[in-house]
This record gives sequence, structure tokens and C-alpha cells, in this order.
Amino acid sequence: MTNPILSNWTTPFEIAPFADISDDDFSPALDKAMKAHNAQIDAIAANPEMPTFANTVEALEAAGEQLDKVLSVFFTVAGADSNPKREELQREFSPKLSAHFSGISSNKALFKRVADLWTRRDDLNLSEEQARVLMLTHRGFVRAGAALEGDADARMQEIKSRLASSGTSFTQNLLADERDWFMDLTEEDMQGLPDFVVDAARAAGQEKDAKGPVVTLSRSLIVPFLQFSPRRDLREKAYRAWAARGANGGETDNRDIAAEILVLRKERANLLGYDTFANYKLETEMARTPDRVRDLLMQVWEPAKSRANVDAEILTQMMQDDGFNGPLETWDWRYYAEKRRKAEHDLDEAALKPYLQLDRMIEASFACANRLFGLEFKRLDVALYHPDCRAWDVTRDGKHIAVFIGDYFARGSKRSGAWCSAMRAQAKFPKVQAPVVINVCNFAKGDPALLSYDDARTLFHEFGHALHQMLSDVTYESISGTSVARDFVELPSQLYEHWLEVPEVLAEFATHAETGEPMPQEMLQKVLNAANFDQGFQTVEYVASALVDLAFHDGDAPTDPMAKQGEVLAELGMPRAIGMRHATPHFAHVFAGDGYSSGYYSYMWSEVMDADAFAAFEEAGGAFDPERAKALEDNILSTGGSREAEDLYLAFRGRLPGVDALLKGRGLIAA
Ligand SMILES: [Zn+2]
Repeated sequence: MTNPILSNWTTPFEIAPFADISDDDFSPALDKAMKAHNAQIDAIAANPEMPTFANTVEALEAAGEQLDKVLSVFFTVAGADSNPKREELQREFSPKLSAHFSGISSNKALFKRVADLWTRRDDLNLSEEQARVLMLTHRGFVRAGAALEGDADARMQEIKSRLASSGTSFTQNLLADERDWFMDLTEEDMQGLPDFVVDAARAAGQEKDAKGPVVTLSRSLIVPFLQFSPRRDLREKAYRAWAARGANGGETDNRDIAAEILVLRKERANLLGYDTFANYKLETEMARTPDRVRDLLMQVWEPAKSRANVDAEILTQMMQDDGFNGPLETWDWRYYAEKRRKAEHDLDEAALKPYLQLDRMIEASFACANRLFGLEFKRLDVALYHPDCRAWDVTRDGKHIAVFIGDYFARGSKRSGAWCSAMRAQAKFPKVQAPVVINVCNFAKGDPALLSYDDARTLFHEFGHALHQMLSDVTYESISGTSVARDFVELPSQLYEHWLEVPEVLAEFATHAETGEPMPQEMLQKVLNAANFDQGFQTVEYVASALVDLAFHDGDAPTDPMAKQGEVLAELGMPRAIGMRHATPHFAHVFAGDGYSSGYYSYMWSEVMDADAFAAFEEAGGAFDPERAKALEDNILSTGGSREAEDLYLAFRGRLPGVDALLKGRGLIAA
């Protein structure tokens, strides 16, 4: 019998036949698919004919279709509906897959063909998109080290494997420190804490087998504790432990590991011909150079710091009124900021919730896509991997565009967070394929299901990613949809969040679950104001981390990263009552792997663009301006990675983004 994952899918729109697939199918399907992919790769590499775009680059694009199927099905269920068997499979697959893909990127015969095409690129008569795919394919090989020979090649392999194991140790040490520390709370210690923090502390105590409730170093518990506990002594103790993660001495100390990682990264960049690791890393990003990143961050830093310093004075006064003298400390900020928030814009979450029904918010996200891009959504009756999933047929002018799947509810088998992925990416080669796109969220179930305002924003965010996939209109899969630079990929998603805040959208869709009344204007205004609260603090803690990350990689590797961190913060004039969002010994974004190393800035980079891009709509006459919507689709949502991100943005906006809209949006300068 054929494995259902590898068979032809005869389901509507060739959605994966989840009902026919059992967990026992994954492992044999993966082995078979990798074998088939390897055979295809070997055939391309060993082709006796002279390399052509078709027999090399297009052949690579077309290869691995079975593997795509296995991985898309497996990772969909492993993330959104796991079980012990799937977890075991994930552990089994991860080293297999990394060996498989690194085998391809270090295939010398294959690289020779790509490199040959690259030298002859001007004579190949390629379309703009083909030239781009050739450039990206070639660059991918070179950056992975495929062009290195002899000792350099051997050293590169050594560095890569050492970096992989150091990254894992960094993560494990951090987890160990987070797991080992907790602080017991007596009933008296919990006075003043809201119910949800008390409940979380009790649950954490049970999990730790403690005598009673505890505070742990999990962000979801310690942050509310710091926000709400009136006990300054306990806040200090908890904060100090939180800030010391990865720097407690002994076996789990991350400081030496961080130093080693920075040295190895620098050497790796040098082997590949770059001066610094930041130059290597940023080459593929929209920002391109460390100077441009620093420039942008500093434009945000100064107004953010000024705001934070003004806020610090207000909070210090509040603290002194409580009878504490001396300066405001890092363990005080959140507590007094929360008090101030309550006094200045008390927003009653419980009263707000009935206005944000999940089903109405889904309708709102669809309605905006309809007005902007003419998309229509019709429910599809199809079996998916979990009964909570829903699917829609997405059409425009009667033509099928995509399948959109929403899996909205939290459950034990789903990992935390929210994400968007393409179960099948859009492409026209080797055949036309319409995308199948899924949004996975973790909203509380209910009848009807009600969202917090943050939840509603998440829904719009993920749907923005989905639009980037669904409206994609390119030939080659490797550049379709969200296959763009990391500092560009959050633009469509963060931009889409702005439509939730359009008053006419909330007026139509934020209706009370029982009375059907629209959200009162006053409540709406409170929601919007609360979103901008304490942005001086938020921006400072983030930008400080991003600037330290950049300083680590933009030059010689520091022998003592902690000293370097101290220097950078001193030079910036870091406000004393604000800590870095992530300090070096627990900066997992930067040290657990390569993903965000000298790339932590990218959240801010995208935010500058989304604020600036939405301002383009407002300048043009409103959130639904049809010309702007068309420009957005033509230049950003349909184009994937077919052109440089900067060119795409320029084509949409007519100029590069400026920071003004962001500073206004965060309330850091006057609107
Ligand atoms: Zn996102």
C-alpha cells in the first residue's frame, strides 16, 4: 500500500489527507522522501551536459516535492497538535534533516554547476526573477561555505559544529537556571496580588513540588509579580534572580560560552571573506550594513530615552510617596508603572472582552481583505487534523486564490504562541500551485469565544502573514510568499494590525456578544491609549538589547562580553531603573542559534516600516484607499522575495521609511 503522505492527494484543493495519515506513516515517508531527494540532487550534480538554468537551478527548484509534502504535514501537526509519538519523531527527524540539508549545501559538484552559471549569468538570457533565483541560490551555497577548499573548508566544518553545540549548551544552561530557581511565598507575601497572579503562583508551586505558592523565573509569572507586588524586598529578590539567569557561576554559567561564540562567528565570517560577522549577517537583510542599523536604532533611542527619563521622575515621586527614599530601581519600574496605568487609563478588561468575539474578529479580518484586495471567503467542509480547525476557500472574481485554515484555540497539544505557515507555498513552476495557508493561535475557547485586545491584534498579525502567502504571485517557490529578508518579513503582518484600530472596523465588528451593541466610543479610545502606555520603557529595554547585539558582532569579538555590554550601556546613558530586555548571559535570540544574531534590531526595523506604510494610506485618504491597496499588493504582498526588499518598499512608498510615524505611534513625539 502506498504511504498516504506520498500518494496523490485527491482531497479538495489537494489539502493534506489528514484523516488517512497515521503517526506510523511519518518516519518511512521521510526516509523515502529524503532518498528520492538525494537521488534527484545526485542526478543534477552528475549531469554530463553543460549547466543550464533549466537543468540546474530549475531542477533544484523542482526537486524534493515529496519531502515538501512530508515536512509540511509533519510540522503542522507537530506544532499544533503534538503527542508523545510526534515529539519522539521530532527528536529523531531534527538531526536527520540538518544532515540532509547540509549535505546538499556542501555538495561540491552541485556547487560547481551553480558557480559556473553564476559566472556566465549575463549571457544566460534570464528573466529578472530567474536572475534573482540564481543569485540567491549561488549566495546560499557560498554563505554555507561551499566555495571553501582544503584547510579552510575543514575549519569551517569544525566551527559550524562547535557553534551548534555551544548554542545548545547556552539554551540548556538557561533552562536549567530558570528551572532551578524559585521563591516561596507565604499567604502574607501575596497580599495585593490580583487573583490571576495568585493562581499562577499556586500552580507553579504545585509544579515545583514546593510547600506552597512560588514565584518562578518564567516571564509569564515574574513579570506580573514585578508589576503587582507591593513588597519591594520581594521584588528586588525576584528581579535579581531573573537578571542573573545564565550568570550564576558554576556549570550553567553562559558568559564564557557567549565569548567563545562571538570569537567563532568572527572567524567564520573572516573565512567567508567578510570583515565582521555583522557584515556577513546583514548582507542578506534589507538593512544591509551595521551602520544603517545603528543609525535607525539611534534615531529611536534618543526620544525613547527622553521619554523614559521623564517617566522615571514621575515614578520616583510615586515611590517616595509610598515612603521609600533613594532612587527608583529596576525592580520598581513595573510596579509603579502599573499603578500609574491604572490611575491614568483604567481599562476594564472584563468589560471589554464581550465586544471582541473571535468569530466577529475573523469576519473583520476577512472584511478588510475584501475591501482592500477583493478577496472572498467561503467555508470549506473538509477534514483537517483537529476538529477545531476551520478552512475557507479564498477567491477573487470567482477564481480560486488559496485555501485558508484557522486553528484558533489553545489546547495542551499545541505549542505556545501564534504563527502562520504555508502548508503549500504558491508557485507556478514546475506546475501552478495555489497556496494552502494556516494561522495557528492560542485563544481561550468559550461560547462564544471572546478575545482580549492583544489576542485580536495577534489574529490580525497572523492574518497579515497569511495575506503575504495567499497573494503571492511569483514563479519559483524558493522566493514565494514570506521567503523574504528577516527584517522585512514582519512588515505585512505588523502593517495589517493597523486595520484593527480603524474606528469604522471596530464600530462594525466589535459588537457585544449579548446585546449586539457596538463598542462605546469612550472604551475604544481607552483601548487605543492603553496600547501606547509606557513606551519609553519598552523601547529603551528593547533598543538597548539590539545595540548591544550589534556591538558584539560589528568589529573584533570582545574578549569579555560583559565588559563590552557595560561599555555600550554606559555610552548610551542607559536609565538606571531600566534593564536590558535580554542581557548577554540569557540573550537566547543571539546566542542559542544564529537566527537573530546581529538581527535583534529587525523587530524595530519592521515596525518603522509598518508605521510608515500605514501612514501612506492615511495620507492618501484613508485606511481603504484603493490605489494604496493596489500598490501594496503589487509591490509587497504579491512579490515575495523576487526583488530586494528595499526596492519593493521604494516602489510602494516612493521613498524609504522614516522613523516619524513610529515615534508618533509609540507616543514618543507629539502626533
Ligand atoms: Zn509575525
